[in-house]
Amino acid sequence: MESCGHGIVYIVGAGPGDPELLTIKAARLIREADVIVYDRLAPIKFIERSAKPGSELIYAGKRPGHHALTQDEINKLLAEKACEGKTVVRVHGGDPFLFGRGEEECLYLTKKGVKCIVVPGVTSAIAAPELACIPPTSRLVASSLAIVPGREAAEKKQRRVNYASIAKSVDTLVILMGVGRLGEIVRELLSGGIDPETPVAIIENASLPSQRTIVGRLRGIVERAREQGVKPPAVIVVGRVVELRDRICPSNP
Ligand code: SAH
Repeated sequence: MESCGHGIVYIVGAGPGDPELLTIKAARLIREADVIVYDRLAPIKFIERSAKPGSELIYAGKRPGHHALTQDEINKLLAEKACEGKTVVRVHGGDPFLFGRGEEECLYLTKKGVKCIVVPGVTSAIAAPELACIPPTSRLVASSLAIVPGREAAEKKQRRVNYASIAKSVDTLVILMGVGRLGEIVRELLSGGIDPETPVAIIENASLPSQRTIVGRLRGIVERAREQGVKPPAVIVVGRVVELRDRICPSNP
């Protein structure tokens, strides 16, 4: 293994967007970093406000169908900055290892002999339902949950997610990155025998002032989402837990 100076890269989860949902550790690392490489879903204003004078802020965000920097370029950039002896903070939205590229970054850095430390974050998979007052599990109606991607890496060769069979095996299904494929996912669930009356919630921009929750049933949710102009980022929750929302904390937005 090559070795690379005294630099270090922190792979940091920054939560769903509200800076108050950053961990104290994430906030401290952002304040102390020499270089911050951040994603589209990171709390950008907090980063700009808190970074120390002279630090370098690099936007690596990807917009749908658009790459600001390729993953390869991000990996190289992180290694390069760390090899200059800098403390690098790579900020991911949510948690860095849950449908994030944090794992690939660490793998690359470790191969290059760069020290890499993972700092978990509050994932949108759990925070978004809870911010909409939907408990992912419930003693009353749901003991199990699965978190699945709505779309998968193009390079993945194995079988894709079987939504209907997972939905049959767990009480709550949480889908990330699913807005663009909502129609197909719902079709797969229905043709796989999931009850069309199953409640569904879509939580858009969770934790941000623009947070919005659309509630419906599997039958009809696609039209509803279209009417309401639902856009990413959003988390889709399928299961009876959605019905608890109004009973538990009706004051949540
Ligand atoms: N590592 C991230 C997930 C990255 S995948 C995490 O742990 O949260 C990106 C997906 O996360 C988005 O397509 C969306 O489904 C979800 N997401 C991230 N932030 C969100 C937010 N503030 N509100 C709703 N969904 C969000």
